[in-house]
Amino acid sequence: MAYTGSCACGAVTATIAGEPIAVRQCWCRQCQHIAAGSATTNAMFATDNVEISGTLNTRSYVAESGNTLTQSFCGLCGTAVMGQSSARPQFRTLRLGFLDPPHNLAPEVVIWTDDAPAWAPIDPALESFPRQPPAPAPVES
Ligand SMILES: [Zn+2]
Ligand SMILES: [Zn+2]
Repeated sequence: MAYTGSCACGAVTATIAGEPIAVRQCWCRQCQHIAAGSATTNAMFATDNVEISGTLNTRSYVAESGNTLTQSFCGLCGTAVMGQSSARPQFRTLRLGFLDPPHNLAPEVVIWTDDAPAWAPIDPALESFPRQPPAPAPVES
């Protein structure tokens, strides 16, 4: 199916084709910053399937892995839109809050649980990783 996305103010929108390669919840410190204290929940799509309209502001930084991560957000309302890693330019990681409902996407994996606060509601039924997990399998397209 196709997905659409929009920020809180509507200045940034997106259409996304195909299904995500993975849906993950991330509790790393950077994500706690952009998600106002909680985790981010992210759907990883093939870059070629993601079409963004509107102006994104970005912030890039070097992660512990040594890869450069670029976070994109709406410069008007601050909604987190997506992230991208220099190690995996073929994927874009869309924030689930940016995607328009209804959709059936939900986290399958929880990562960076070492950084989660003690009160974090981490679903014990989901596979979890204390830090960065292995990269998802490459997609055919
Ligand atoms: Zn906005
Ligand atoms: Zn994170």
